[in-house]
Amino acid sequence: QDAAAFIKSQVRTIPDWPMAGVQFRDITPLLQRPKTLRVLIDLFIERYVEAKLDYVAGLDARGFIIAPIVAYELNIGFIPIRKIGKLPYKTVSESYALEYGTATVEIHEDACGAGDRVVILDDLIATGGTMMAGKKLLERLGAVVVEGAAIIDLPDLGGSKLLRENGLPLFTVTEFG
Ligand code: IMP
Repeated sequence: QDAAAFIKSQVRTIPDWPMAGVQFRDITPLLQRPKTLRVLIDLFIERYVEAKLDYVAGLDARGFIIAPIVAYELNIGFIPIRKIGKLPYKTVSESYALEYGTATVEIHEDACGAGDRVVILDDLIATGGTMMAGKKLLERLGAVVVEGAAIIDLPDLGGSKLLRENGLPLFTVTEFG
């Protein structure tokens, strides 16, 4: 069984959570056992070991679980992109549309410098709004966003297509239709 199929087999689906009609893809089983955690992290390391990255940026909150492990193993830094109101220093912010209302994410204005090569990591891409906002924040700081990466893509929601059409290459381990 290849690594991606193994990872897919270990994602847990919770029906009707957090609301009726949603099939929540739960990555906690991947984190729980050393074997799955290692297989997962190694997929990202193999992908980026030669990519000459300066940072891995993680999206609040589940991106924060994976991204620092990848950054540590690549011997580079980690950048948190947080939901509004959480970062203590001077920030740059981006808002984006949700199904109902808007969301805002922030980055510290000195999180990286012009020309720094960054990959954005999250657990899952749905509509792509969160990752797109992260890309915009990093680009406002002058970074080169090399790629977006996630464990899971939900292609039916159109986010991965939208991100690619907007110039962001993507790497996802697996998908659920
Ligand atoms: P998007 O901005 O619509 O692409 O939504 C992606 C964000 O929502 C990510 O930060 C995910 O953590 C979260 N998310 C949406 N659906 C799920 C899910 O089924 N499992 C885990 N996270 C999800």
